[in-house]
Amino acid sequence: MVDPRRRVPRTDALLADPRLVDAQTRLGKALVKAAIVAAQERARAGQIPPEAVADAVLAALPAGAGGLRPVVNATGVILHTNLGRAPLSAAAREAVLDAAGCTDIEFELKTGRRGRRGRTALAALAAAVPAAEDVHVVNNNAAGLVLAATAMAFGREIVVSRGEMVEIGDGFRIPELLTSTGARLREVGTTNRTTLRDYAEAITGETGFVLKVHPSNFRIEGFTSSVGVGELAGLGVPLVVDIGSGLLAPEPLLPEEPDAATVLREGADLVTASGDKLLGGPQAGLLLGRASVVQRLRRHPLTRALRVDKLALAALGATLRGPATPTAEALHADPDELLRRAEDVAGDLVARGVAAQAVRSDATVGGGGAPGLVLPSAAVSLPGAYAEPLRRGDPALVGRVERGRCLLDLRCVPQHMDEALRDAVLALAPGVRAGTAGEGER
Ligand SMILES: *Cc1c(COP(=O)(O)O)cnc(C)c1O
Repeated sequence: MVDPRRRVPRTDALLADPRLVDAQTRLGKALVKAAIVAAQERARAGQIPPEAVADAVLAALPAGAGGLRPVVNATGVILHTNLGRAPLSAAAREAVLDAAGCTDIEFELKTGRRGRRGRTALAALAAAVPAAEDVHVVNNNAAGLVLAATAMAFGREIVVSRGEMVEIGDGFRIPELLTSTGARLREVGTTNRTTLRDYAEAITGETGFVLKVHPSNFRIEGFTSSVGVGELAGLGVPLVVDIGSGLLAPEPLLPEEPDAATVLREGADLVTASGDKLLGGPQAGLLLGRASVVQRLRRHPLTRALRVDKLALAALGATLRGPATPTAEALHADPDELLRRAEDVAGDLVARGVAAQAVRSDATVGGGGAPGLVLPSAAVSLPGAYAEPLRRGDPALVGRVERGRCLLDLRCVPQHMDEALRDAVLALAPGVRAGTAGEGER
């Protein structure tokens, strides 16, 4: 008998397999070759028969060359930082694709002359917030703060309340971000209370600006006081307000979240915000405010290092000009309608023998804003054993585990995905029942 290891197909034969030729066009030769080498090794080690090598290569290939996998967010957290914050609308995704090749980002097709970079998105932002005399967009909100601190307070002081010394996440802290620019912090007040007098007494010839930071991911309750934008605007020094979430106008569902239009009307000189939180767009830092301030930032040399790319500008333009974002839809979803959807999915699953249940649940906005706010929601509740195989599926379905149950919260799941969600559970059901789910998965 021939040693089966001698029958392991050769690399050139595998590369010529039509299915793998396709994969090379899609993913590139290097990724396919790496999968071939790995599958050949498994065959030589006797883990798979030589005839199964081509199939094993196909199964091991990633869905895309980018390395990021699509995820269905069934966590009930609308803006999940680990899942890329705001998902883009269909219009914004299309705009990204259109801009991915050569595009008129800095070119006027009508005249053949150079055009202002990202003018459509910037005009849309300015139109959305008439209270802003001028606008600019950088890489993210942190970049906006760095630019403001550098251009307006280098070697000088930024006056900020001790109640607003925010850690954004992953160990990054706004105070450290600000001092890394060469500005000094002048902390005023206490953790729970800061008064207008605290600010007024701290203002000197050294003051670059007063900064108000929205505590977007925590809440202090009890004996507290803070000073409003209107009062801070009267202090006679520039006022910069980091609103965090990127709401451009008031959102009735989130009465505690500041918005750019209101803050500017109350007298802020500059507002900074994220593009990929409640605005529902791409990662970006929005700068809105007085013309003289925004122009000063735009002309600073650092601006070039914080420049936003064409894909983000395209997505931002479509987010501002286009239809409602998935973030807005998730925020405004009707809990009774969510429960009806959960009942439909759970009903189908029960009919096929899965121990599913439709339950009411609590969703949240997430790190992007509205700390402490509970949004009534609904979920498909499954045995906890489903959590891992669903997460490792394609697309990956990420729920949350609560008291041993795997909850698939529907608030952030677009309705058109309900059937795919149900089918993903059904496909795993035999394995979960047999206690082998997840085995043989990537
Ligand atoms: C999220 C947040 C930031 C950081 O924004 P990025 O766009 O992630 O850089 C800064 N300040 C506040 C108040 C925030 O909520």
